This record gives sequence, C-alpha cells and structure tokens, in this order.
Amino acid sequence: AIRNQNLPPELLEELSWNKTLELLNYAYEKVPWYKDRFVSIGLEPGDIKYPEDFINVPVLSRAELAENFERFVSKDLSLRSLKISATGGSTGNPLKIGMDPRGNREVPKWQMLSWWGLTPVSNMASIYRGVPVKGIKKMTIDFINWPQKTLRLDATNITEENIKLFIRAYNKHNPSVIHGYVGALDVLSDYIIEHKVKLKPPKVIWSTASPISEVQEVKIRRAFDAPVCDQYGCSEIFFVAAECPNKQGLHIFSDSVKVEILNEGNQPVPAGTYGKIVLTNLNDYSFPIIRYENGDMGRLLNKKCSCGLSLPLMDKVKGRISDNIILPDGTVLAGEYLTTIFDDYASSVKQFQIIQHKSSDITLNVVFNNSAENVTEIISKVKNELSNRINGQVQLRINVVATISELRGKLQFIVRE
Ligand SMILES: [Zn+2]
Repeated sequence: AIRNQNLPPELLEELSWNKTLELLNYAYEKVPWYKDRFVSIGLEPGDIKYPEDFINVPVLSRAELAENFERFVSKDLSLRSLKISATGGSTGNPLKIGMDPRGNREVPKWQMLSWWGLTPVSNMASIYRGVPVKGIKKMTIDFINWPQKTLRLDATNITEENIKLFIRAYNKHNPSVIHGYVGALDVLSDYIIEHKVKLKPPKVIWSTASPISEVQEVKIRRAFDAPVCDQYGCSEIFFVAAECPNKQGLHIFSDSVKVEILNEGNQPVPAGTYGKIVLTNLNDYSFPIIRYENGDMGRLLNKKCSCGLSLPLMDKVKGRISDNIILPDGTVLAGEYLTTIFDDYASSVKQFQIIQHKSSDITLNVVFNNSAENVTEIISKVKNELSNRINGQVQLRINVVATISELRGKLQFIVRE
C-alpha cells in the first residue's frame, strides 16, 4: 500500500516479516499442499521465528504448482469462488493459478503510476493480450473505467490497420500512460519511427511481461519521446517491482511480495549477485504462493534510490534460466549476458534474436535501423566478442535480416531448438 513506501526501511522489513509469518501459519493450517509438505520434512510454523529461518521453508517449483493446482486452494474457499488465471507461456507447459477474487491489482498499479505523476483519472493506452470484450477482435475504445479512458491495441493481433486505428484514437484522447508488452511496444515503435508518426508524448511508457533490452528501451523512448518504466511481474504475481523516474533499479513492492535471490543450491546470494528469483505473495491467502521459483534470473541491489522511497531495489530482470545457450563443453552463455550484446549499438539495432540449433550451432539474426551506419563494423565486433566465448566449439552465423517473425507480443531473444 502506498503509505508503506515511506516507512523507515527497518519498519518496512518488520512489516514484511510479520506478514510472512502470518501467511506461513495460515498455509500450514488451511492449505493441503503446505501442510503435507511441511509435515513431510518435520517443519512446523513454530520453527520459523526469524527471517534467517525462512530458508528452511521448501522452495516451490513450477512443476509442483502445475501438478497440484487444487491442493494450493485454501480450505476457506471453494474452488468455484476462486479466480483462475491460466498461463501457457513459451514453455508449452500450461500452469493454472488461483487468485483471491477480492485481490486488487489496481492498488500497486496506481502506486507505481503515482511515482510518474499520474492519477487514476489519467487516460491510458494498453497494448496487451486480448480485448476483454467478447467478439471484438480489433482495437476498441473502452469507457468502462470512466472518467479514465483506456485505448486498446490487441498485442496478439497487431496489423497495420489496427495500428492506424490505434494511432487515430491515441491522437483523440492523448493518453498519459501507455502500458504494453515489450515486444508489442517494440513493433509499434518501429511503425511510428518508420512512418514518422507524430504523437503527443505520454508521461511514461509502462513496459511489462518480458525483460526489456537496452536496444528496445532506446527505440521505444525515441518513438514516443517519453521515458520507459520497466515493471516486473509474472502471471503468478503481477506486481513484483517497478522503476521510478530516477531509474536506479526496480522498487520491490516489499509489503506485498517477498523477493529472494538464490543460487542453484537454494542458498541466498548476496546483493549484486545474479541468481534464481524466488517469490512469496504476502497478500493472497486464497491460493498461497510461498517461495515460488518462477524461472527468472535477477539480482538485488544494495543501494537506496535517490527518490527517497524505502522500497528496496532489484535490477532489471535480464533473462529466463531457460534462455541460456549451452556449449558442447558445458560452458553457459547466460541469457542475461546475451541480451546485452548490442547495448553499445542500441541506436542502430532494431531487433535481434539468437537461435541455437539442434546441432548446437548458433545463428544470430539482427535487424538494423534504416539509418544505421557502420553495420559491417558492428557485426564484426559482435562476432569477435561472441567467437571468443564460443571458442570454435560451434558454428556462429550472423544474418542481417529484414524482420524477425516471432512477434506475438513477446519477442523471444533466445530460442533453443
Ligand atoms: Zn526510486
């Protein structure tokens, strides 16, 4: 809640820990999965007294959650009263998540947008999946949140015609915030730049659902002449952290979600070190998510933001664990590194994608801006850099291409065949 963001950091930590204990007790009493899991390892809520004890609570994997959906539902709720969100994801392994129907995403949303000078009556443009009105496939203008107006562009159906309709509506309503999937914002930005579309800049572009690369951020900022707020979340827990205008990291909504960074052995790593992101939702008791490993990699930052908010900082999430490239000798080219290979040339590059074929060979497809100069030099530098790491183990091809086809709102940087 917004009042907690200015608490002294110790009080905020205490608040978060007290909520953690309350959730653990509840889960043990009311949620079959946790009861059985805790009993099976001889853990009782009384064993968890101090924050350092929390590592004794087992980490929850995506597979465990996917296979035991019903056992995560609180006994206080009937399955029918639960709001269910299903996520397919790029993994092809669908996951169902329950949510408290009374849960309110609007609270952290407007908390975040208030940092950017927005109020709940600000007009918004949304470039997101599906349109919540049945039968309407195209962009629609939606007045349900009156007096706030929300323009929508369906991120799963971005055609030139829909973009034109969207731009027309945009110019009529001048939204002060644009919310969208990174990949969809990326496509729209290309269109705006290529067609020299003039738009009244919004106060902020709120990007979500996928790590944003420097290349994309530079492009989106240029297209809309507005700053980008990177917001991190997943379909399991939507608001985990978000940037304020000072952009010194993402502020964790630590009064509603606990973020841990663990190594492969599930031990906490120090701030500044990358590891697996493990999340606990402190607000949802109907379908508790405790120490859930969502597959993303990230790191905590051990500094305070100059904006003065007490909410702790984490770095941009740079890639999913599954996005790594693995060489025949076992060397891992980490996704969080690979997404940065064009950072020095962010204003010349439009998009890129790295594909590892079954043979382990690697293809890097890159799309340059029309205005890009010294393309040959950029390619040769990136090729050298990658070749040094690959060390002759596999073939590396770099193709300059006109487009990258995978554009369902989420551009996958790294594809392993
Ligand atoms: Zn800040």
